[in-house]
Amino acid sequence: MAGLVGEVFRLVPRPQAHGHRILMYHSVGLEQSGTTVDGDTLGIYSMTLAQFTQQIDAIQGVARSTGMSFVPFGSVLRDTISITFDDGYTDALTVIAPILCARQIPFHIFVSSARMNGSDRKYLSPEQVVELANMPGVTIGAHGATHRSLTSLSSPELAAELQASKVDLEAVLQKTVNTMSYPFGHVDESVHKASHDAGFTFAATSKWGFNEASGDPLLQRRIDMWSGDNKRTVENKILGHWNWFGLLT
Ligand SMILES: [Zn+2]
Repeated sequence: MAGLVGEVFRLVPRPQAHGHRILMYHSVGLEQSGTTVDGDTLGIYSMTLAQFTQQIDAIQGVARSTGMSFVPFGSVLRDTISITFDDGYTDALTVIAPILCARQIPFHIFVSSARMNGSDRKYLSPEQVVELANMPGVTIGAHGATHRSLTSLSSPELAAELQASKVDLEAVLQKTVNTMSYPFGHVDESVHKASHDAGFTFAATSKWGFNEASGDPLLQRRIDMWSGDNKRTVENKILGHWNWFGLLT
């Protein structure tokens, strides 16, 4: 009998922890173009289309069986899921958008404005960012201007970098940008204050964990998604079985 009860509990996924889940992705399919995600020494931040599709299937499966819904990044609602992509790679438009839009899953892309306005076309161009922003469920946030570590900058440099990241993106989108993610997840008290002063109201870190409505909107935790995550790992991350990992990040 105990075995049967254990089996039933194993088959019905239950959230181990409550809170808003913000998933952090980077690229899907970038390695096929012969380039890699910046600083991705472990090769975990660019996954194939097959790996990504399998992960989205698993996330949707958990969402269905637990009653969690997908919400745009920027709202903290208990037991909901937001999907984010850092760095603004072009595959957000060519690979990711077709999949997530077809499934009506909202997603958020963090774009570094100087890269957007630069010549390296592994990053989204201004026209591509606008095209994405016009798709249903797609929202855009800042990710620094030049993708430098914000904690490494002097006070005037920090203010200028944050201001440029916001204003340059707003000029392209023709609307207010008040969300951001910290490049490399680097944030300290000065960066937190400067982000607030620059007009950002909601920001994602790389610190592992779920979020409660009472949490600091400028210090939102995320769940890091890796290319090698199989169905079971993805399910466990969404359910909260990996939240001990927050102690290490
Ligand atoms: Zn980044």
